[in-house]
Amino acid sequence: MGRPVAVVEDEPGTTRDILYGNFTWGDREIILVDTGGLEAVPSGDLTARVRDQAEGAIQQADLVLFLVDAREGITAADAEVADMLRKSRVPVILVPNKADNETRAVTSAEFYQLGIEPIIPISAIHDVGIGELMAEILERIPAEEEEPVEAGGPAAVKLAIIGRPNVGKSSLLNAIVGFERAIVHDMPGTTRDALDTMIEFEGKPVLVIDTAGMRRRGHIARGVESHSVLRAIRALSRCDVAVVVIDASEGLTAQDLHIAGFAKEAGKGIVIAVNKMDLVDADRALVQQIQASLDFIAFAPVHYISARTGQGVKGLVQAALQVAEERTKRLATRDLNDAIERAVMRNPPPHRGGRSLRVSYVTQARAETPTFVFFVNDPALIHFSYARYLENQLRARFGFKGTPIKLIFRGREERPQEAEDRRQETGRKKRKEAKR
Ligand code: GDP
Repeated sequence: MGRPVAVVEDEPGTTRDILYGNFTWGDREIILVDTGGLEAVPSGDLTARVRDQAEGAIQQADLVLFLVDAREGITAADAEVADMLRKSRVPVILVPNKADNETRAVTSAEFYQLGIEPIIPISAIHDVGIGELMAEILERIPAEEEEPVEAGGPAAVKLAIIGRPNVGKSSLLNAIVGFERAIVHDMPGTTRDALDTMIEFEGKPVLVIDTAGMRRRGHIARGVESHSVLRAIRALSRCDVAVVVIDASEGLTAQDLHIAGFAKEAGKGIVIAVNKMDLVDADRALVQQIQASLDFIAFAPVHYISARTGQGVKGLVQAALQVAEERTKRLATRDLNDAIERAVMRNPPPHRGGRSLRVSYVTQARAETPTFVFFVNDPALIHFSYARYLENQLRARFGFKGTPIKLIFRGREERPQEAEDRRQETGRKKRKEAKR
């Protein structure tokens, strides 16, 4: 990831921490999920719980990186996981970690016994083999064109309903569908872990992705059930706007915040639905607690609703569609530069070590999440509080309600694409050498 990743706790008793993050490599967007490790009980067998966890993760992946310990060699648990992976028919790369430059060839030879190829030994800590691994990953993930076409086509706004179990996601879907025409999509042949429903809302096509629905239909595969977090992540990757549902009668929990954090991390639009308002008084304390905790996504509108009575549900969907609209907004370069110039004039960047940031030009990148590239004298001079100031100024002038926006600072001499190409080329060469 090249940066610290979010730490998340899944439902109690199902797993240890799940780490998750997304990043772009070349022009590909990659979601990386670390399932937290498979521990064997002393007899060598994986516990049923761990097996479920592994199966859930495997089913949801386009590609599995099977990480083993090069120094320990093959363990009984490794052999068992390898078995499971071979049966799953999901593409796998076997990655012995903790291999240094000298021991890489020996390591590969030993791990061939597991019957999984390719084998790319790495040292995560010493950054050995990572470029090569990335090249291999890019070769093996499905090509972009092969991804299934979403129901409703590109015109439909895609909303994902996400949240903890029992906050009322299914009830909300029913409430939305209850007053609109709905078609349930089953999408044969795809490994969907959410239920897609096409509706027409005030004349507009909307695809609602419900992450709870499958559970109730009883034909859910083993292992997937325990992966509400992974399910939310997958749904997020396909949506424009995430409706994050919270249970007002329980208040905001840490898990709610994690889920909202995912949506932000994924760069998706966010609307918060505080549900079950029929059970509580809409008192100041509740509203204040929610607003204070959601400070990190202050741009997201908060709606107080009841899926049971239908109160506030229409307004919620309208807000979500507005957020989707905001995300498609493209600013004229002149207006953008004008706004930034004024902002910088009003509040110049502070000096750092005798130097100060100069912004020469700003442009909006073609990206799903509104993204602005600032060409500056030296990206190291940007302080996060100044970046936040610029973001706030952009929002004050242009809106972007409900959607994260990304600011990228680039030195003028730096060409990230070139650096990346070079890195991948090096990886390819090294791999050839290793094969020889
Ligand atoms: P999910 O697991 O997030 O899909 O949650 P469900 O939609 O299954 O709802 C969980 C429970 O909360 C069910 O018993 C619902 O009837 C109840 N529930 C959902 N929305 C509301 C609401 O707005 N008000 C009240 N009082 N109960 C609700």
